[in-house]
Amino acid sequence: MQTIDKFNFAGKKAFVRVDFNVPLDENFNITDDNRIRAALPTLKKIIADGGSLIIGSHLGRPKGATEKFSLKHIIGRVSELLGVEVQFASDCMGDEPAAKAAALKPGEALLLENLRFYAEEEGKPRGLADDATDEEKAAAKKAVKESQKNFTKALASYADCYVNDAFGTAHRAHASTALIANYFDTDNKMFGYLMEKEVKAVEKVMKDINRPFTAIMGGSKVSSKIEIIENLLTKVDNLIIAGGMTYTFTKALGGKIGNSLCEDDKLDLALELLEKAKASNVNIVLAVDAKIADKFANDANTQFVDIDNIPDGWSGLDIGPKTEVLFADVIKNSKTILWNGPTGVFEFENFTSGSHAVGVAIVEATKNGAFSLVGGGDSVACVNKFGLADGVSYVSTGGGALLEAIEGKVLPGIAAIQEA
Ligand code: AMP
Repeated sequence: MQTIDKFNFAGKKAFVRVDFNVPLDENFNITDDNRIRAALPTLKKIIADGGSLIIGSHLGRPKGATEKFSLKHIIGRVSELLGVEVQFASDCMGDEPAAKAAALKPGEALLLENLRFYAEEEGKPRGLADDATDEEKAAAKKAVKESQKNFTKALASYADCYVNDAFGTAHRAHASTALIANYFDTDNKMFGYLMEKEVKAVEKVMKDINRPFTAIMGGSKVSSKIEIIENLLTKVDNLIIAGGMTYTFTKALGGKIGNSLCEDDKLDLALELLEKAKASNVNIVLAVDAKIADKFANDANTQFVDIDNIPDGWSGLDIGPKTEVLFADVIKNSKTILWNGPTGVFEFENFTSGSHAVGVAIVEATKNGAFSLVGGGDSVACVNKFGLADGVSYVSTGGGALLEAIEGKVLPGIAAIQEA
């Protein structure tokens, strides 16, 4: 497999798929430029080598070309951060981008307009009437898949090589994230630095595991995490279950959970998962106490109680102090750690303690040599909120992509490069 470090971009045009899907305010100002910064090492390496850049990205979920989702709003910031005056092609298809790409000199950069202005990027039909028949839907799907080939080929024609640095969309088999790779031979396609880091981090928790391996699964619902939990049961030594999903397990085991979050249709599933864990010799670590509240609000009255003895009218919004110690002990004795999902309603200041304690224990374990990966949504917000991001080994930039990777799925954007 080709790697970006070994590749010399001198005199080459590189099509780089990045994830510049940044949040914009109502005046189109970027409110968080982390995604642009995350791609800089890759973009700068290509420029430094004497290559030129054709940068492709999506922004938002447009249904066609719209001002709101135009990437022209971000050219200024991209130019500033990259240190190069970035040119813009107001369409990603047609004569304009082709001519601008052809005219690029070493060290120059061109940003293409939002790839998702075309349905061909995602390969999904648009504008179907609500009452479209199954035949009409199938015909529209076939048509867009057909035109997707020309779209992908046109994107590939702008460049000599392809670099994928968009981990956030690696779980999508889109034109620019996966299909385009077919138009480059093995030596001319590679991951960017960000993708490389993400792929390596995932491999450390999925394949190349240093034991004991502990996963902390929090968040709100069991139903949204079943596939992850099932896959993790084949990998981990300890599985800590936290957050709102705790109470479905507690109730399934016969405990009193008051008004805590519970998925009553998942009680049997919770017991099944516990059985599976036993059969796989996985140590499931459940909360023993909770911080309960008399309403779903930061200023609720609170008390600490045993997890299986929550009075009616009260709900568990975070783990209690005994559980914090229990979880921290397991975490500190681990050599590989994966954290997905807060232990409580961390958006309320009074229910952050459990998530904070988990974060601190992970940082300590990391200091002692453990590899720790945090990702997949709200746990990233947690480590950032608590200022702990620098103390963990890796904070993933990919929400859905990371979750699919830990569900054990093959990500099309990764496979397109790795399995070439
Ligand atoms: P998820 O997106 O599944 O990772 O869930 C994250 C959400 O779970 C956050 O918004 C938390 O507020 C919520 N959450 C965590 N613990 C609880 C709890 N005990 N009760 C209700 N919601 C919770």
